[in-house]
Amino acid sequence: MAFNTLNQVIGSLENHGGLQQSQEFQSLLRCWPEVVGAAVMAQTRPLAVDRGVLKVATSSAVWAQQLMFQRRQILAKLNLRLPAPLVDIRFSTAQWHKPLMAEPATQEQTVLWREHPSRVLDTPAGDKIEPKPAVKEPKAAFQQWAEGIQARTQSLPLCEQCQCPAPPGELQRWGICALCATKGW
Ligand SMILES: [Zn+2]
Repeated sequence: MAFNTLNQVIGSLENHGGLQQSQEFQSLLRCWPEVVGAAVMAQTRPLAVDRGVLKVATSSAVWAQQLMFQRRQILAKLNLRLPAPLVDIRFSTAQWHKPLMAEPATQEQTVLWREHPSRVLDTPAGDKIEPKPAVKEPKAAFQQWAEGIQARTQSLPLCEQCQCPAPPGELQRWGICALCATKGW
């Protein structure tokens, strides 16, 4: 996998303009950590510069989205440091790979890699793409569900009577949550 990643980077450099391109990209790689900071650096991997457009792989769609909102600021900071200014940045999960220094592969990582979006791109056109398993593992599925519920619950307003999170519709209708409203009937 490490060789794959390297070959892809080298391949895309060669495809898009030889030595000058690679020098430009090298200076970008040097200032990238300083510009985005450690947290973002861990979730991103600059792939190539293509006609002034920097392509960056991100660890997830959420990161890609967040960084798209900040790309003007990132671009401005990068251009202060780069010999040739960039015109734009594209973030995508498509070519994200595990860091070369990753800890030894565990079962979980194997599963994640198998479901990784880049694997789909590896599939030659015309080949059937295997459907993802619907539920990985009951425990993991439950955990995911519980976190979803918790995230939703935390953003809900509280019922005045029992101080429990309640859907805004219930509070609007009865002034209290449905459970408390039922008790009063
Ligand atoms: Zn209540």
